[in-house]
Amino acid sequence: MKHLEIIKELKEKGFLIEKAFVSGNWVDSDDKIKIFNPANEELIGTIPNLNADIIIDAVKSADSAQQELKKTSKEFRAEILKKWFDKLIENKEDIAKIITLEAGKSLRESRAEVDYAAGYLSWFSEEAKKNHDYIIPSNDIFKERKVTYLPVGVTAAITPWNFPLAMITRKAGAAIAAGCSMIIKPSEYTPFSALLMCKLALDSGLPKDILQIVTGYPKEIGEVLLTSFAVRKLSFTGSTATGKMLMRGSSDSLKKLSMELGGNAPLIINEDANIETAITMILNGKFRNNGQSCTAVNRVLVSDKIFNVLHDELINIVNKIKVGDGFDEENFLGSVINEAALVRLLRIIENAVKQGAKIALGGNRIKDKGYFLEPTILTNVHNEMDIARNEIFGPIISLLKFESEEEAITIANDTDYGLAGYICGENKERNQKMAERLSFGMIGINDTRLSDAKIPFGGIKNSGFGREGGIEGIFEYLETKYVAEK
Ligand code: ADP
Repeated sequence: MKHLEIIKELKEKGFLIEKAFVSGNWVDSDDKIKIFNPANEELIGTIPNLNADIIIDAVKSADSAQQELKKTSKEFRAEILKKWFDKLIENKEDIAKIITLEAGKSLRESRAEVDYAAGYLSWFSEEAKKNHDYIIPSNDIFKERKVTYLPVGVTAAITPWNFPLAMITRKAGAAIAAGCSMIIKPSEYTPFSALLMCKLALDSGLPKDILQIVTGYPKEIGEVLLTSFAVRKLSFTGSTATGKMLMRGSSDSLKKLSMELGGNAPLIINEDANIETAITMILNGKFRNNGQSCTAVNRVLVSDKIFNVLHDELINIVNKIKVGDGFDEENFLGSVINEAALVRLLRIIENAVKQGAKIALGGNRIKDKGYFLEPTILTNVHNEMDIARNEIFGPIISLLKFESEEEAITIANDTDYGLAGYICGENKERNQKMAERLSFGMIGINDTRLSDAKIPFGGIKNSGFGREGGIEGIFEYLETKYVAEK
């Protein structure tokens, strides 16, 4: 009942939008996709399933919008991004409710996501004002030599359901700062926060066809965006398998790409670790977003000297974690995204047990309605097992043991992924040495909370390439041009 009232209230405010935003208009279609609430399996609303013709139109209008946008000043774009930031903060509670409805996460985490997402807009509103151009001293031939940075052109973003708002502002903020129009295809599981975000951008004065939100099943929409030569840049966040497919699909139009893909983060807990810090790192690193995050701790590597102490303390604490409806503030964890995800997680546990792991806690589905999993702890995990090789993407902690620093580094680096890695220990010198040797794009020492608009977020190897946020973020949307005059 509570959910239905929330949906009604959001609809009355015009915040639960069941249309796509294409070529400057809110558009509908007869073909619709139903969007369900993962916490109770009830219908939230519908979105249009757009066809290829509409996406072709979207690209055309993004192209003409681009011609106008590139003429605007840095200050104009900075001001819009700042206003958009204010709008997100002003409407934090309603946006958070939508995220909880569609993604199943707790309201506490949804509010945190709005702050995180808005942070990209304020960051890029400052970055928008910067001048990156520079002069190269003359040589024997040329008197004047300069390097300038220009907007790459029409851009596209394909985004996932786990952070349905932040994974968009991180891309759209940078694109607008750089002077690029953008067509966004949000996940078909979490379209409503994206649509509200777009409305708030328009309310902030963004000219109407700079951003477009195209909704629907991914294949047909993806096909147009990937193959269109007018789309000069694609920024993707999602699974490694899909990322590779999109990269292949973009090869004929030879776009600039950013790929923020899966991870398999190790957390190394050295024998000199503060146990409280180690537990906090496991809880934050694993249970943020119910484990459905690419920077989530996937393998907890514990020194055999403190394994038993840590293990007992961890079970004690995780056992008290409350799981349930995200609107109920006492629940620490909400549901996972959908039935397929829950079934996949149960299979991961079953398979790990078959390969020799032991369930120390949890392991079961919680209710029959909604997709809830008990926070689970597995011991006896070895790095050769599937659970240690693949991204878990759910509330399952797997504990591995190591005997020496050397062994810890070898195990940690023995993965095809390279997004985030973490170290816990009190010896600063050793922490720094270990950080140098870990092959990941981002390393957190004694804290796992890396995400921030000011950092260059991204990975190496199968975790993709390109950096989002930080000083690097805007360059993903800029092209370098060199001009020399004799
Ligand atoms: P998940 O399996 O967890 O949903 P994906 O990587 O498949 O993760 O999805 C991330 C985003 O990629 C979503 O917006 C999804 O719709 C989109 N996507 C998936 N397949 C394709 C495709 N063939 N073309 C374009 N986008 C796709």
